[in-house]
Amino acid sequence: MTYEVVIGLEVHAQLLTKTKLFCACPTVFGREPNLNTCPVCLGQPGTLPVLNRQAVEFAIRAGLATGCSIEAKSVFARKNYFYPDLPKGYQISQYELPVCLKGHLDIEIVNGGRSPSEVNDDKPGKTDGGPGGRAGSPPAITKRIGITRIHMEEDAGKLVHEHPGTRAQDASWVDFNRGGTPLLEIVSEPDMRSPQEAVAYLKKLRSILVYAEICDGNMEEGSLRCDANVSLRPAGQEKFGTKVELKNMNSFKNVEKAIFYEIDRQASVLDEGGRILQETRLWDADKGETQSMRGKEEAHDYRYFPDPDLLPLIVDREWVERVGKTLPELPDAKRARFASQYQLPVYDAEVLASSRGLADFFEACVKEYPQPKKVSNWVMNEFLRMIGNDEARIPSSPLKPVHLAQAMKLVDGGTISGSVAKTVLQTVFETGESPQSIVEKQGLAQISDDGALETALDEVIAASPKEVEKYKAGNEKLIGHFVGQVMKKTGGRANPAKVNELVKRKLSS
Ligand SMILES: [Zn+2]
Repeated sequence: MTYEVVIGLEVHAQLLTKTKLFCACPTVFGREPNLNTCPVCLGQPGTLPVLNRQAVEFAIRAGLATGCSIEAKSVFARKNYFYPDLPKGYQISQYELPVCLKGHLDIEIVNGGRSPSEVNDDKPGKTDGGPGGRAGSPPAITKRIGITRIHMEEDAGKLVHEHPGTRAQDASWVDFNRGGTPLLEIVSEPDMRSPQEAVAYLKKLRSILVYAEICDGNMEEGSLRCDANVSLRPAGQEKFGTKVELKNMNSFKNVEKAIFYEIDRQASVLDEGGRILQETRLWDADKGETQSMRGKEEAHDYRYFPDPDLLPLIVDREWVERVGKTLPELPDAKRARFASQYQLPVYDAEVLASSRGLADFFEACVKEYPQPKKVSNWVMNEFLRMIGNDEARIPSSPLKPVHLAQAMKLVDGGTISGSVAKTVLQTVFETGESPQSIVEKQGLAQISDDGALETALDEVIAASPKEVEKYKAGNEKLIGHFVGQVMKKTGGRANPAKVNELVKRKLSS
């Protein structure tokens, strides 16, 4: 049977506040266990939570950046369940009245569901001029994905099961450093119809949150976590199938793989006349499969009720407006501006605007060297490859925009060839030295001097009598042979145009 897949995502984003949601403990990652704790986040009797204003502001930013309405009044609720890393026995969250409602974001789909930035991920450095240059590929289609709600909640602590070499080998330890850290839970509508759409949504959402400077977007460290609700229904059927919740996917690739796996699994269960159980399944990246973790809880299992220690959260219009004014240009707007202001192909604009760091790098470069398409090619091919497609490495990259601009000017001035420029930039990336100084130190300047080139060419001519004979007999294609050999002899430093000229002059007689 043919099935249609229905996917909704629940994304948890850890907010970039310095302190926790209801106390003044720091949120820094990677400190010694239980150092970032106090009686409030450890849930000791008699303590009272105090709401972090900055966290509320970040929630408003997220809501505005995704077209949500910001609710004038929202309520914190207790979500009651027992778990060893949850000392209070409940998590403070929002339930019936969340802070943001009904937003959306747009994803771009090309090539049967692949997002442009994903195509780029597969082939670092192989975008070659960008399409523009991607001839024949169908244009991207924009699809709007609904956002049901965004609510605030505190994180739980963490259980540590492995601690090799200590007595903890046979025990589980609890680290409460993360307990009470502010999270946003962003719940989408079940609007996605393929794993690729889910990844495109997640990428776009991550990009927006990073742009808005409210989350660092680091999936490996868990500051951005994604659960997916996946169900199948016979093609054409209105009613949703039974959904399964997938957890534990800590990269875009794993989100895609886990959903693919789950679609296959559910399809074979249904094909055999079986029934899908509503449950939570964990993605095991090593085995490449999902495994059942527990039956899915319903909201009533949690006995939600308004937290009596916290007043309703009141957000007035003026506050929302003030926060709105501090929002930077967001990815969609930036992409549109890049396409029009710099006359870039849509593909280039999409790749560059998908990361704020990359977009800023590109614009800083264009300031120094105002040829946007050329800059875009170098940034997308060379720079992206150097940083391994990892925008987090941009701030610490020794290669700065000014270096790229300088290298391009050296090419334009005939000092170095394009291929030498690539080597030079790689050295800049490793050392932080300027292109100019690398070219001087390593003697990479292009040889345009007739005498030196002539000597090299004479040697080549002497070594290839057969080619000389054929060339003189009219096989002009062989000019490539002579130029190539001279380039080789000079370590790529010969000026190819000059060599071309010289070959013609020497062998025309
Ligand atoms: Zn605390």
